[in-house]
Amino acid sequence: PLILGIESSCDETGIGIVRGSTLLTNTVSSSMDEHVRFGGVIPEIASRAHLDAMIPALHAALEEANVTLDEMDAIAVTAGPGLAGALMVGVSAAKALAVAANKPLYGINHLVAHVGVGLLDDSGIEGFNADFMDSLPKEGLGALLVSGGHTEILVVRDITSDVELLGATLDDAAGEAYDKVARLLGLNYPGGPAIDKAARNGNPKAFAFPRGLTARKYMGTDEEHGPHRYDFSFSGLKTAVARVVEGFEARGEEVPVADVAASFQEAVVDVITRKAMLACTEQGIKTLLLGGGVAANSRLRELTAQRCQEHGIKLIIPKLSLCTDNGAMVAALGARLMGEGRAPSAIDFVADSSLPVTTVQI
Ligand code: ATP
Ligand code: MG
Ligand code: FE
Repeated sequence: PLILGIESSCDETGIGIVRGSTLLTNTVSSSMDEHVRFGGVIPEIASRAHLDAMIPALHAALEEANVTLDEMDAIAVTAGPGLAGALMVGVSAAKALAVAANKPLYGINHLVAHVGVGLLDDSGIEGFNADFMDSLPKEGLGALLVSGGHTEILVVRDITSDVELLGATLDDAAGEAYDKVARLLGLNYPGGPAIDKAARNGNPKAFAFPRGLTARKYMGTDEEHGPHRYDFSFSGLKTAVARVVEGFEARGEEVPVADVAASFQEAVVDVITRKAMLACTEQGIKTLLLGGGVAANSRLRELTAQRCQEHGIKLIIPKLSLCTDNGAMVAALGARLMGEGRAPSAIDFVADSSLPVTTVQI
């Protein structure tokens, strides 16, 4: 089917158009620049930016794909999770289009859509496409989603009906920790790329920063699993970095930015990859998809690849434009749901900022 996908859960206004598993266009406009001076995404600003960007992005996407709204078989939209006001703009736009053009509407889960990009033939992953998703192994596909809003380990046994959340962050997302630490170090927002770059000249062993939720009371033992075995916490790490920075400043010494950045990054990446490997090994998962904006991080890519190889796990990473938030992933999952004959969502559904990952379609 020909599907229009709309994404507006955070600061990207994304419109994607797919025909089955073929990507026709993926238009993304970001309000990132407007958040820079605040050092983080301001929900109200993001919502207003979505309002401004939505219709122009829609026209641009239709033109680029050389299709009309009338030709669409359905509209798909991110129903959650995400920022409530931001989601509402996309959902309202999708409902308006669905009613005006008399098209079925699919309200879908943003997190599952991050994995759903793998349905596209040109996701950048060789051999990983709609056919691959049809024949997922019984133990499922692992997904490590690391972004500004999420840090989660999922198991996908069926992309339209069977997604399990193994672990998630209890406080900050990894990307959020990067952004906050960058601010402490006087680096610009978004902090991820800035820290990634600064860390290249630093010593990752200069400071022994804490590895959140790795103590035995959280992890448990091999025999008896603890309550947060696969979960993450980055707020203690952020505080530890703040103490170190304050110490240098109090002594009137220059903060060793590169060393702090490298040591912070190593702590984040070490614990993410360690827990992902543990989850895969214990669940018998043999293929892991890495997604989310932090998948751009050079150290995360390197250590995930290294540890996957050590554990005999196949690592797949979609091309970067499909790792970050976009409309193509929403359209791809919508196409799959429709292709499987799923009934559309009720036209009066409400966006859910905390939609659980187990709800693939609202
Ligand atoms: P969501 O969490 O809803 O998926 P988001 O907009 O917060 O949405 P993305 O757009 O996927 O997430 O990613 C943005 C995040 O990725 C930011 O926190 C940014 O700092 C981080 N990031 C980008 N490049 C890098 C990098 N090279 N290293 C580390 N983090 C990075
Ligand atoms: Mg974003
Ligand atoms: Fe996302």
